[in-house]
Parts: sequence; structure tokens; C-alpha cells
Amino acid sequence: MTVRLRAHHLLCMLTYVGKGYSPAFVDNYEAIAARLSAGEEIEIVDGPDDICAPLLSGAQPHCLGDGVAERDRKAAEAVAACLVMTVAAGTRVKPSGSLLLHLRRTFAEGDIRTACSGCEWSGLCDAVAADGYANARIAMAATDEAGHRQGHLQYRLSTRCQT
Ligand code: SF4
Repeated sequence: MTVRLRAHHLLCMLTYVGKGYSPAFVDNYEAIAARLSAGEEIEIVDGPDDICAPLLSGAQPHCLGDGVAERDRKAAEAVAACLVMTVAAGTRVKPSGSLLLHLRRTFAEGDIRTACSGCEWSGLCDAVAADGYANARIAMAATDEAGHRQGHLQYRLSTRCQT
């Protein structure tokens, strides 16, 4: 099994803290967060993904809009540059502790956030990153958490030192 994510959700997963569009959306996201925290592989898809699923039965879901597709394009470009790899439909990514740490550090520095422009959740994501992702629901996989605990602690301390 893989978790199917559209490209801009590679960013959103970093700051997910249990808030979302509806109770059904959050319930579904919680299940996905648990799978990612357990290290299940991500597969990048074009268009609506596993996170979007509960919204697709509504009238004119925003997940199908051109603006969201543009957000995906910007996120794919930024994450690809950050990770020095291709990010496109079919790309598979393991959500390891080192990957989350690297993406979260870069996100907090603002370097991969062009896709966030105009997003209604941007203020929340700013606050989550500024707080060192303390309440983020997607955690490092247990298998590599210990090895990165020290680095994560140093990262949190360095983040706080900048504010
Ligand atoms: S600001 Fe919006 S697009 Fe950016 S990570 Fe947060 S929810 Fe996702």
C-alpha cells in the first residue's frame, strides 16, 4: 500500500495538527497521518488524492480547481529542488525521519513555501512551524526517531533562537 498524495500535500503534511475542513476530513487525515508516521511510502499523484477524498462528494470541490493544480506545480518544483529529486506523478517517497526533518526545517525557513501563497491555512502553518512542529500529527517513524531525536531537538532550539 502507498499513501497517494498530490504534490502540495507534501507541504501540508508537515504542519497538520488535526484541523481541517470538516470532521470527516479530519478523521480521514488522522488515519493517513498514522500511516505516514508508521513509514508507509508516499506515491505522488496528479489531482485529488487520499487527503482530498472526503471532499470530493461536495458540490464543486476546490480539489479539482486550476488554482490547486498550480499549487501542486509550485510545490513539486520546490520540493524537488529541496530534495534534489524528481517530484511528479508516480514518484515514490519514504516519509523517513530525516526527510521530515529536512522538509520541516526548510519549510520553517520559508524556502519551499511558494505554493502556500493565498492559502487560507497559511497563518496556522506559520504558527505550527514557528512552534517547532510541537503538535504536528505526522511524526517520525519509530524505527528512525531515536537516531534523529538529537537533531530534532537541536533544530527546535535553533528555531526558537531565531525568534
Ligand atoms: S499554507 Fe496551505 S498549502 Fe501551505 S502547507 Fe499550509 S495548508 Fe498546505
